[in-house]
Amino acid sequence: MSRITDLKTYDFRFPTSATLSGSDAMNPDPDYSSAYLELHTDAGEVGVGFVFSIGRGNDIIVKAIDTLAERFLGKEIEPYLENMGSAWKELVYDSQIRWLGPEKGVAHMAIGAILSAFWDLKAKRANKPLWLLLAEMEPEELVETLDFRYLSDALTPEEALEILRQGQEGKETRIQQLLEEGYPGYSTAAGWLGYSDEKMLSLAKRETEEMGFSLIKLKVGQNLDDDLRRLSLVRKAIDPSVELAVDANQVWDVPEAIEWINKFHEFDLTWVEEPTSPDDVLGHATIAKAIAPIPVATGEQMQSRILYKQFLQAEAFGVMQVDAARVAGPQELIVQYLLAKKFDTPVCPHAGGVGLCEAVQHFAMFDFVAISGTRENRMIEYVDNQHEHFIDPVVIKNGNYVAPRSPGNSCQMKLEAVKQYEFSGQKGDGNV
Ligand SMILES: [Mg+2]
Repeated sequence: MSRITDLKTYDFRFPTSATLSGSDAMNPDPDYSSAYLELHTDAGEVGVGFVFSIGRGNDIIVKAIDTLAERFLGKEIEPYLENMGSAWKELVYDSQIRWLGPEKGVAHMAIGAILSAFWDLKAKRANKPLWLLLAEMEPEELVETLDFRYLSDALTPEEALEILRQGQEGKETRIQQLLEEGYPGYSTAAGWLGYSDEKMLSLAKRETEEMGFSLIKLKVGQNLDDDLRRLSLVRKAIDPSVELAVDANQVWDVPEAIEWINKFHEFDLTWVEEPTSPDDVLGHATIAKAIAPIPVATGEQMQSRILYKQFLQAEAFGVMQVDAARVAGPQELIVQYLLAKKFDTPVCPHAGGVGLCEAVQHFAMFDFVAISGTRENRMIEYVDNQHEHFIDPVVIKNGNYVAPRSPGNSCQMKLEAVKQYEFSGQKGDGNV
């Protein structure tokens, strides 16, 4: 038996707003940040988890992780690792904390960081990357860790079990395919709104011709004339086989979204992302109908599996974009993938930021191996940001994510190097 000896949090903030990398219609000057957690045991092990944010307020998330994680100090780790559902229940059903959500916002994301650290440790002990650990768990064992509350009108534990049992067929072949070929990625590097046309075009060429991505995404929604100009410039510059998507980052109301997007039909868009509020199920359904055949994509700021359920039931989107640090960790992500399979909807995870690519690749790969069984119409977002700070960073080869082989969730940072980005809380520190 080992005991948890420390749950150490860090407030890391990177001055990305200086280059306008990450700028979009809603977030003009993000400073990519990580509320980072290290869970230490007396056996000398470290499990890590984090929440991504874009600057101010990262300290609030750190405080939430501290408040929630405190209960585990001095506890034996094994009972949790053997029954991950128990850690979920302790955290999600802490009634006083639950009042802050329930199951949404800062407290929920903080739970995600803690549960991620547990799963990281579980994978490290099994000497497997997280995607493989999940794929090799028995369906019964995995379903046991999941919470189906509020979902039974859409997905029951029995249906989840059936999906995972079906996923066992051909699993070994898919593991080999994944190790040999990787998992498709797409690039957002060219599309930031703060970039000049020249920078956008040279990045669009680099990402498709040199990096090998088969889809690139542009930010839109600030000015219609600019959007039309940028879209036609990029469409002409890239190979016709390359797909193009756009992302409005929630700026529009429903009627405005419909009017604006309906001016984009000539560009053969693969999706329009986050047209309006991530909470607006019926609004998205209205938009989806009105802009067909362009599919609506959303999910990076969707607060829980319950909203995903409603979006799927209402046919409010055609592409589901899960985010590894928005919900309560691996168990909720797995439920989201099971819902997507039940409703036959492709998942193209949101990534970029700090650590989001590293984290979410494990769930996309697990889905390919053990849930959906396909990579068709599925790809993980990629941006070349802050990967150098990770011990086991994502690797892109010919536009594909290379399957991680190192044990764990790939989210552990090079602590000594990254400490220079720790926010002191003082005004004027860094860029905050
Ligand atoms: Mg987006």
